[in-house]
Amino acid sequence: MIYPSEIQKLIDFFSHFPGIGPKAAQRFVFYLLRVEKEKRVNLAKAIKDLEKIKSCSLCRNFSDQDPCPLCRDPRRDPSLLLLVARPQDLMALEKSGQYQGLYYLLTKASQGTESNNFIENISQGLIGRLKEDQRIKELIFGFDLNVKGEGMALYLTNLINKDFSLKKRIKLSQMARGLPLGAEIEYADDLTLAAALQNRKSL
Ligand SMILES: [Zn+2]
Repeated sequence: MIYPSEIQKLIDFFSHFPGIGPKAAQRFVFYLLRVEKEKRVNLAKAIKDLEKIKSCSLCRNFSDQDPCPLCRDPRRDPSLLLLVARPQDLMALEKSGQYQGLYYLLTKASQGTESNNFIENISQGLIGRLKEDQRIKELIFGFDLNVKGEGMALYLTNLINKDFSLKKRIKLSQMARGLPLGAEIEYADDLTLAAALQNRKSL
């Protein structure tokens, strides 16, 4: 059976969601057809309102303000910069309540005009931020403890050590014991994350 294009378009759209296949996408659309019109209108509005969300120019996390409330908070320690791969990791670490410094996201939470060249973005974004903000004295790698996370930490260590002024000023450290090997930060519990932050090791 061929669906009307209005339905098929939405099924295709939902199929691209992470972890959602065509079957689940179909169920979403059939559900939307069944609910009251008001709910559909509210959903459409909520999606449209996402246009107001931008990337913070300092930490690159999503926010409706720039700089975001976290970056503007005078109680945060500006000498610490914790580098994370995903917004979910930032949220998990923040929820642990153990970290009082600032953050930097490797990939912008909300995509704008950023180039797709990841390495280019890193050198322009992170290195620029480290050079501009002389208050930063320690950069903490908050990556997953897997091959990808380790590789990223190694790449960035080399990049920073190549720049003499950055190497002299900025201490590099890595979240350590507490997190099991292969652990994903997003799914770690608060206590584990707290231990990993407190026991971070110098690089
Ligand atoms: Zn921010």
